[in-house]
This record gives sequence, C-alpha cells and structure tokens, in this order.
Amino acid sequence: MRRFVIVPVVAAVLAATLSIASADSYPARPITLLVPFAPGGATDTVARVTAQTMSKLLGQPIIIENALGAGGTIGAARAARAEPDGYTLLIHHIGISTAATLYRHLPYDTKTAFAPIGLVTNAPMTIIGRPDLPPNSLQELVAYIQVNGDKMTFGNAGLGAASHLCGMLFMAAVNKQIVGIPYKGNAPVMNDLIAKQIDLTCDQTTNTTGPIESKLVKSYAITIKTRLRSMPALPTADEAGLQGFEVAAWHGIYAPKGTPPEIVKKLATTLQEALRDPDLVKRFNDINTEPVEQDQATPEALRDMLVSEVDRWAPMIKANGQFAD
Ligand code: ASP
Repeated sequence: MRRFVIVPVVAAVLAATLSIASADSYPARPITLLVPFAPGGATDTVARVTAQTMSKLLGQPIIIENALGAGGTIGAARAARAEPDGYTLLIHHIGISTAATLYRHLPYDTKTAFAPIGLVTNAPMTIIGRPDLPPNSLQELVAYIQVNGDKMTFGNAGLGAASHLCGMLFMAAVNKQIVGIPYKGNAPVMNDLIAKQIDLTCDQTTNTTGPIESKLVKSYAITIKTRLRSMPALPTADEAGLQGFEVAAWHGIYAPKGTPPEIVKKLATTLQEALRDPDLVKRFNDINTEPVEQDQATPEALRDMLVSEVDRWAPMIKANGQFAD
C-alpha cells in the first residue's frame, strides 16, 4: 500500500528536479522559432531581428522556420503540438486572435494551447496600392473604389492574417467588397503589388517601409492614430476620411502549453533584455515600429492580450458571417 503512496511522490519530486535542472541548463541546443508566414515578409522580419538579439543573449542559435499556410494557423498548430521543452517557439501577430473565430475547426484551442512568453512589438499598418493605381490620396482611392471596386483585387497573407483583417475593416469602412487574393505571406503579396498584378494591400510597416520609401508602391494611409515621424506626409486613415479606422499588428512569442515555468521565465527575461538592446531598437525604428514597453514583454501581458483580442474580434467576425472553413 505504502509503495503506491511513495511512488507518485518520488515521481513528482523527480519530475520537479529534472525540470529545474533542464531549466538551469536551458538552452543546451538550438531553438526553432516558427514563423507562420513567408520569408522576407512583415512577421518574418520582426522574427529575425528579435531572434538574432535573443540568441546572442541565450548563447544558442535561434533558427527561423517558416511554417506557412492557412493564414498562419498551420504554423500555430505546429507550435501547439510541439514538445513543450522550450526548443520550439512561435512568433505570431494579431491574426492568431482573429483566426480563432474565422476558423471553426482549428486543431488547437487558441486561448489555452500556448504558454505565452511576451509581446514584442505593435506594428502600424499601411494601406498601399500598385505603383500605377490612378488615385493619389486616400480620398481619391475611396472614390475610385466606388466606381471600380468590382474589378479590383486586394492581396492578403491568407484568411486570418493581419492584412486580411485590415482588408476586411477597410472594405467595411468604404462600404464596398473587393476580391481578396490570398497568399502565404506578405512578401509574395508585395512582389505582385510592385509587379502590378494586384491593386491593393494593407500590411505592416515592417514590410512596407522600404517599398514606400523607394516609391515602388503608392501609399495612402497609416492605420494608427498618429503619423509616422519618418513619413510625415502619409496621413492617418482617420484624418484622411475613414473616421475611427485603426488597426495595428501586435506580435507575441509563444511556447507550447506545458513548457516548464522556469524556461518560460528565462525566455521572457531574455525577450525583455533583447527589446532594450539599442541595435534592436534601431532596427525596429528603421522599419517604423518599436519594441513594446518592458511590462508588456511578459507572459501575463501576452496572455491578457490574446484572450481579450479573441473575445474582441469574435462577435464582429461572426456578425460578418464569413468563415475560412
Ligand atoms: N504580416 C502579414 C499579414 O498578416 C503576413 C506576413 O508577415 O507575411 O498580413
């Protein structure tokens, strides 16, 4: 009888000891960071800058693996079912919260499948068009869409991606549906926009800053409350006529649920340190974004954000009645 009492106790003590030991030596080998969108795009860029700084601090490489498709849900599903040992992580943005409702048959429960590490950045988005699109301002674009919208196309990174969400909000704001063209990330969207194969997209500054500055695309508005210091001529959507139009792509890093708390803590403190790094700050600023405040780069802040954003978007998506599956 006693054996049956002692064995579980010994097992629990052993498991706790092993978990502390593994957290102490963590990371002992390279970490994989899953990016659920195409290489060279908005999320990928944020991931690479952050991973580089974190890997210096952790003393192990962080290898980026682009796990593409289905608006970021394929990469998220991979992370959800990965071994919870701190060696497989996920970076994702606001789309993880909209996908929770847009997809009715996800193989993971968005609110509980992950051990959040912390928020990384809240990237502004920009409404941009192919270089030869006739309108030269947001007001002209809205008028142009009223006449030509049926023939136009709006590129996005798949149903549930940030660009898809921004596109849906934009179409609702201008009261006109535009055909959406889904890609596996905004890097290929950008290529096709520059090549004049599609008309419009809405994407994070982390992907659009270069093409806007080089005039490879037409820029119409920024989707946050204030203009960007580096692009003072670009109006906010709100001041250019789309009152209240505001969306930004918050990004966070997640581990699978069940990852030892000591490892989560180590990753969170490393993320906080990385976000204070002057080189990282400069590289973020160069792409018109900035690291979140230190108290946001925490598991609690990311969990709160994730849960509140799933709840915030769910009724709107349900009312819209369009689902991805
Ligand atoms: N950020 C993009 C989006 O969600 C995807 C990407 O990073 O390529 O639209």
